[in-house]
Amino acid sequence: KAKEQRGSLSFFSDDLTAAVHRRLQLEQRLRRALEQQEFCLYYQPQWSIDGQQLTGVEALIRWQDPECGLVSPAEFIPVAEQSALIRAIGSWVLSRACEQIADWHRRGVRIPRVAVNVSPQQLDHQHLLHEVESVLQQTCIDPAQLELELTESGLMSPGLEAVEMLASLRALGVSLAIDDFGTGYSSLAYLKRFPLNLLKIDKSFTDDLLTGESAQAIVEMIIMLGHKLGLSVLAEGVESEAQRVELERLGCHQFQGYLKSRPLSVEELEALLLSSS
Ligand code: C2E
Ligand code: CA
Ligand code: CA
Ligand code: CA
Repeated sequence: KAKEQRGSLSFFSDDLTAAVHRRLQLEQRLRRALEQQEFCLYYQPQWSIDGQQLTGVEALIRWQDPECGLVSPAEFIPVAEQSALIRAIGSWVLSRACEQIADWHRRGVRIPRVAVNVSPQQLDHQHLLHEVESVLQQTCIDPAQLELELTESGLMSPGLEAVEMLASLRALGVSLAIDDFGTGYSSLAYLKRFPLNLLKIDKSFTDDLLTGESAQAIVEMIIMLGHKLGLSVLAEGVESEAQRVELERLGCHQFQGYLKSRPLSVEELEALLLSSS
């Protein structure tokens, strides 16, 4: 019996070792991917709630792995976030997005706004503020064209420093969105403290909007909250016309989702703009 126990214990620890090994390996491949420029950005259009006007795009990272093909960020961002790598990847995303804004501006391509995802780990120590300042300087873009998507968990941990830094970012002219709103462990108090522009309703609420009473109540509440606080509200993951119509009825301002478009490569996005103008 003792033998059996030892057996399962060592099996468990082998398993653990394998998992740790896999993670370290992925970290190493991600580091190499950065050096070899295997990342690229896709852009998902965001629309006025009637679907008539492009209000912006969200930059979403993709990894073109020579061995595995296109890898989803859902697979590697969580790993990167557990190491220092997320800083380097986050910096790359920010500067790539701003270079793209500058390039579109030069070529007369009209994209009102580009939203960039910011991981909680990037919010520390004024680091983000300095980085945004320098990339704005380098690319000479209009700061109003840049939006940063923060998560509730990113905003909850830090103290007063974060409030000041976000105020400084706003003073630069950059806009601020809360991503996945309603899924974090937040109190609503921070909505008053932080200078925000946009609330993004998480896809899980959009999914249940037409089928679950509580999702509908939550969506209604978020939209009302946005109205009262003077914030724009965008629903994520809108896949059906019925969802869009309901969101419009509830007073939601914008949406993004497969109903109108998936995340697109730069070429695909520019083709879409040409065909719709
Ligand atoms: P997110 O920020 O919530 O991004 C929205 C995700 O929902 C994207 O997945 C998008 O492709 C997907 N999506 C949009 N509309 C629909 C829809 O109608 N139906 C369905 N089923 N899905 C929809 P993606 O691109 O795989 O990104 C996954 C997550 O990875 C993002 O979630 C974000 O948390 C993270 N991520 C992506 N790019 C970056 C980045 O550059 N930096 C950081 N820190 N995180 C990123
Ligand atoms: Ca996002
Ligand atoms: Ca989101
Ligand atoms: Ca999400």
